[in-house]
Amino acid sequence: MDAVESLKEKMVLACKVLQDQRVVDVYGHVSTRLSDERILSTPHMPPGKVALRDLIVLDMNGKKLEGFGEPNGETAMHTSIYKARPDVQCILHYHPDEVVAVSIAGQGIKVVANCGVHFHRGTPIYDSPVLIRNEQLGDKVAATLGDQNAVLLRGHGGTVVANDLDTLLRLGLDLVRTARIQIMAASLGPVKTHTQEECDQMVKFHDRPNANRRYVDYYISEVVD
Ligand SMILES: [Zn+2]
Repeated sequence: MDAVESLKEKMVLACKVLQDQRVVDVYGHVSTRLSDERILSTPHMPPGKVALRDLIVLDMNGKKLEGFGEPNGETAMHTSIYKARPDVQCILHYHPDEVVAVSIAGQGIKVVANCGVHFHRGTPIYDSPVLIRNEQLGDKVAATLGDQNAVLLRGHGGTVVANDLDTLLRLGLDLVRTARIQIMAASLGPVKTHTQEECDQMVKFHDRPNANRRYVDYYISEVVD
């Protein structure tokens, strides 16, 4: 199997996990960077229903090069981020209720649980609910994201970036989970957040080889017979 075919299989599995965990629904999209200034993307359809044959290949301006489906309406967000961030290899954009709720409270993600440690450097908030349907808006989201691994879009959703699909899946699920815990804890009164030193100690372990293996294998086992 060549590298692109293997990426396609991983991408479809990642979408199935995101669907199984109910963090994507009718909307949301996943893309990965290919060689030669190309992008592999889920098309304009519910991501959890995407099969291998549905994936499309785009150029860096969002123009379709291969595949039957149409590009997503918010493709510009992906292309702008890939242009601004050469380190980013894959992107998830979605609209989970928990992430939308935190985005409108104006606080961003607070590190209140261990699953939120990935986001200890901050999750900027793009301050508009308007969908990202053109390059100017895409560039604004990319600028708001800066060098972070997630950006919240006020009243709209979130976008997570990573350098491989396993990490993307983990960040995508953990962002929703930590947002959920933050909301639950807030109802009990003032919350205590992880200190910077505690976060620094914990992220050291994130870079060890196969750090995501057990995590990703668990979720994949839930969607594969
Ligand atoms: Zn959106």
